[in-house]
Amino acid sequence: MKKTIRDLDVKNKRVLVRCDFNVPLNEKGDITDDNRITAALPTIKYIMEKGGKPILMSHLGRPKGKADKKLTLAPVGKKLEELLGCEVVFADYDDVINEEVVELSKKDFEKILLLQNTRFRKEEKENEENFSKELAKLGDVFINDAFGTSHRAHASNVGVAKNLPNGVGFLVEKEIDKIGGVLKNPEKPLVAILGGAKVSDKINVIENLLNIADKIIIGGGMAFTFVAAQGYEVGKSILEEDKIDLAKELMKKAEEKRVDLVLPLDYKVAEEFSNDSEWKTVSYENIPSDYMGLDIGEKSIELFSKLIKEAKTVIWNGPMGVFEFDNFAEGTEEICKVLAENDIISIIGGGDSAAAVKKAGLEDSMTHISTGGGASLEFMEGKVLPGIDIISDK
Ligand code: AMP
Repeated sequence: MKKTIRDLDVKNKRVLVRCDFNVPLNEKGDITDDNRITAALPTIKYIMEKGGKPILMSHLGRPKGKADKKLTLAPVGKKLEELLGCEVVFADYDDVINEEVVELSKKDFEKILLLQNTRFRKEEKENEENFSKELAKLGDVFINDAFGTSHRAHASNVGVAKNLPNGVGFLVEKEIDKIGGVLKNPEKPLVAILGGAKVSDKINVIENLLNIADKIIIGGGMAFTFVAAQGYEVGKSILEEDKIDLAKELMKKAEEKRVDLVLPLDYKVAEEFSNDSEWKTVSYENIPSDYMGLDIGEKSIELFSKLIKEAKTVIWNGPMGVFEFDNFAEGTEEICKVLAENDIISIIGGGDSAAAVKKAGLEDSMTHISTGGGASLEFMEGKVLPGIDIISDK
């Protein structure tokens, strides 16, 4: 078990926290979705209640190791002030850390200090030792509360943790507890639903889940590589030809392990990759050569819903179709609804599935929606996440 913020004395301490403030911005630089900021609040509030000073750091976007004013964390500081109702001092230094920032960290314990985008320094992604030590001068203790970057070993998570007493924050604790709990000791039957564009992104997840799940449902664009593996035409549907043999292998492994690998029975197919394209529903053996599958069909929705209702636990990662197009969002929306309306432990992997749940307004009905896309995928692959691994055990 990893140490958490509760295991550390934060009173009168400078608590350096790695947050995930990698929020989407519009062209004007305004934050379009503040979920990642609100998700960080419990840890920040706890530190303040206990009399510590939160010193927050995060990356934002991909500034390629040098200052890029479009990717400043200034709007995050403003949003934090709005949400917390207290002053946030923004250390607006392009070099992120210097003597003046260290001085700021020692002043005004009732104020939060926010650093500039850690990726303004190339040493961040290199996990460079000196930069890590410099950052560590800002805190008496370190908390990793950025699940979304925990699959990367960077200076602001792994590097700093090597130099300070440390623990995880409430957000990371919940991710470990919910995703890790289901992977280690799921309430059975466990059904995994995997979708999204490509099989190649999900191979390791499928491999790992073959050891844990009772059933694996495959939807989305990745299903067509399996359709081809069964010897059927996929028309103009998205297909990874070089992964057909692998799909065959996965089907064989599933059979050996007695895991049901369930594929869609039918698809909504269209002539063009467009919301306005005319569409029809066809069975999986009859995809016409000039059509592409953009969503699962009604029979598939019915079958998948039945299997979900029989489950105690469901892990879901990846949409069932091109859910960004309203006409091809039904499969994904129906999965959201079935999960929300039934008494099921539902763990939603980050990224597109999380976006679909939010679009349907059903966040509150899910057991857990991960804040990390890549990190939740690697967790589900059974990989060690370096940002969590480095944190001290209890
Ligand atoms: P991923 O990031 O791998 O989870 O993939 C998500 C993307 O897969 C979304 O943008 C979907 O639009 C896309 N997708 C899902 N189903 C299909 C499909 N049948 N054809 C093409 N793209 C799809």
